[in-house]
Amino acid sequence: AKSEGRNISAYYTDGLTQSARERLMLESRLRTAILEQQLVLFYQPQVQLATGQVVGAEALIRWQDPDEGLIGPDRFIPIAESTGLIHEIGLWVIQQSCRQGVLWQQLGLGDLRITVNVSAHQFQREGLTQHIADTLLSTGFNASLLELEMTESALLTQHADAVSLLQQLKQLGIRLAIDDFGTGYSSLAYLKALPLDVLKVDKSFIDNLPQHQQDAEICKAIVRLAHTLGFEVIAEGVEHQRQHDFLNHIGCDVFQGYWFAKPLPADEFASLVLLNRQQ
Ligand code: C2E
Ligand code: CA
Ligand code: CA
Ligand code: CA
Repeated sequence: AKSEGRNISAYYTDGLTQSARERLMLESRLRTAILEQQLVLFYQPQVQLATGQVVGAEALIRWQDPDEGLIGPDRFIPIAESTGLIHEIGLWVIQQSCRQGVLWQQLGLGDLRITVNVSAHQFQREGLTQHIADTLLSTGFNASLLELEMTESALLTQHADAVSLLQQLKQLGIRLAIDDFGTGYSSLAYLKALPLDVLKVDKSFIDNLPQHQQDAEICKAIVRLAHTLGFEVIAEGVEHQRQHDFLNHIGCDVFQGYWFAKPLPADEFASLVLLNRQQ
């Protein structure tokens, strides 16, 4: 059925450019991937700086293609967004994350938070809040352990709508995080208008810590601002001990990054948490 699908798209796409053809091909393969359950979640540990304990995981999607192997989200999320497939994928990501959280609790891993990336497109369709409410109910996952990550740009498309949508989500008892904080073209006004819990400092501000004076000052200022407003701060993309030590020194709450662990399959994540507990 798969090779047949490829022939049909090849037949209809003769007049298209190479890149348009590749997109179409990828789109039809992505539909198959959803049907054949080739999408998987990897989990990157989030570690509390003060204690060294794993407190949660960011769920990051991958596509396990039988021919090509593991395909990263940067290659297929944009296509999922432009074709609308992101809605179906996004709902699955939330459901799968909640199921996983319950499984880990049953394994004795305790109350780990799971944070899920939500694309701007998902906010533009009705029913996101209802889906999350239903999923929390059907899986039994504790709302306070589920966190949604969205970028500044996702929120600023329609500010008034964003406020009411986030308020609805907040009423479910889940946590809300701003992803890639500091990279959007936003004003700071939304920080007080929106019911947020977490700021995730973008990797670009972390990369040259601690020697880069301006980045170091920016990170200090973000931590201070976030704490003043009652938000937690998570640093992304920590690759070196010196970055970790600086972030700890300035009072950042949580970090994630290759220095501690890459995103891992669920079973490897669980083993790592059990090991981390013994330390
Ligand atoms: P993001 O949300 O900013 O995720 C962080 C990315 O940085 C991830 O790439 C992660 O694997 C990578 N990363 C983590 N620590 C380090 C580090 O120390 N060094 C380096 N160089 N990279 C690190 P990934 O998994 O390829 O995801 C890329 C982007 O795809 C994500 O960026 C997010 O925007 C999107 N994405 C991933 N999963 C989902 C999903 O389920 N739904 C949606 N809508 N988007 C997703
Ligand atoms: Ca993220
Ligand atoms: Ca990020
Ligand atoms: Ca990003």
